[in-house]
Amino acid sequence: MISFEEAYKIVIDAQYYEVNTERIELNKSINRVLAKDIVSDINMPPFNKSAMDGYACKREDLNNDLEILEVIAAGSVPTKVVGTNQCSKIMTGAKLPEGADCVVKVEDTEETEDGKMRFVANETKDNFVPTGQDVEEGELVLKQGTLLGPQHLAVAASVGYDFPRVYKKVRVGVISTGDELVEPFAKPAEGQIRNSNAYQLIGQLNSMNVTPYYFGIAKDNEESTTRIINKAISETDVVLLTGGVSMGDFDFIPKIFDELGVEIKFKEMAVQPGKPTVFGVLGNKFIFGLPGNPVSSFNIFELLTKPFIYSLMGHKYEPVELNVPLGEGYKRKRSSRRSFIPVRIENAKAWPIVYHGSAHIQAMTQAHGLISIPVGVSELKEGELVDVRQI
Ligand code: AMP
Ligand code: MG
Repeated sequence: MISFEEAYKIVIDAQYYEVNTERIELNKSINRVLAKDIVSDINMPPFNKSAMDGYACKREDLNNDLEILEVIAAGSVPTKVVGTNQCSKIMTGAKLPEGADCVVKVEDTEETEDGKMRFVANETKDNFVPTGQDVEEGELVLKQGTLLGPQHLAVAASVGYDFPRVYKKVRVGVISTGDELVEPFAKPAEGQIRNSNAYQLIGQLNSMNVTPYYFGIAKDNEESTTRIINKAISETDVVLLTGGVSMGDFDFIPKIFDELGVEIKFKEMAVQPGKPTVFGVLGNKFIFGLPGNPVSSFNIFELLTKPFIYSLMGHKYEPVELNVPLGEGYKRKRSSRRSFIPVRIENAKAWPIVYHGSAHIQAMTQAHGLISIPVGVSELKEGELVDVRQI
């Protein structure tokens, strides 16, 4: 059985192309991956910009009462040069007038009876941002491969990219398998359970802003499963199946993959939960056979599928990891597989969440992240530092 690290490498290396690109409206590009470097077309700020409401003047004149020349609003252009013992009233964001080398805050001044400005504090900062301090014209501000969050959209907007070039969305098919499954609207009859994986996976995909295609529940027979897999393969780029991959009598996904000519890269990995994970390639299509149990499916999607899909879209996924002490010790019986344990972070410590098994998806609703216990380790002690991988 291969290790998690080997499985990860196989999955990432299987991706030999990146999806095409398109230009889209900036407003629609949240969570998309930038396909081209973005370079600033201007200095930022584009002019010496006042950081305060106050008076622009010469620092050397601060001990004198200063004549007020004009009021400079944000967006307007100063019309007067500030000379000796002169100043201009200026608003935050406005352009500093020529001749001035500092802005004194309104709060640090008073107006004299003859309408002049008097500085009444002991000292002042310059209170303006010089041209190009934040970004210089021609500077690289956003790199190709960046996953666009709201702050990236702000940067793109500030340098004039209203139609950034991004990677196209990957189409991802979701199939549930199992005769025991009914959809959420139905009350399960004896022996049945509700299909929860599909909704979880669709949620995971939607939160990555890729497009899920749901193909429903495949019955536990070869004919039905093959038909649905075929349809999903022809209509999407990546297919996610859940269930049917363990060693039960009705678990024949690996066999169907074989028959369809899907090259099976692995069909088990030393991970707990999530051992029965299959990964296959058919031409330029990719198929993940995820475990049936919801906790396993959730984790394997996070650990393998998500990095893979991002990689197809040109983004190297690096989840946030926090290094914190464990709030309480954790023991496990066997240590032949790498475990991933859901944890909560409270009081700057990681607290393992008690869960009964990989069907206990309710436990995951409390989780902030996963910690991993390497092969060969069966105990983590209280206070030991662990890396919490954010989910
Ligand atoms: P399997 O890999 O098909 O043997 O499934 C393993 C376990 O996961 C079984 O208890 C299934 O009932 C359960 N399971 C499979 N698919 C789903 C699903 N879509 N939603 C919830 N549980 C599932
Ligand atoms: Mg099944």
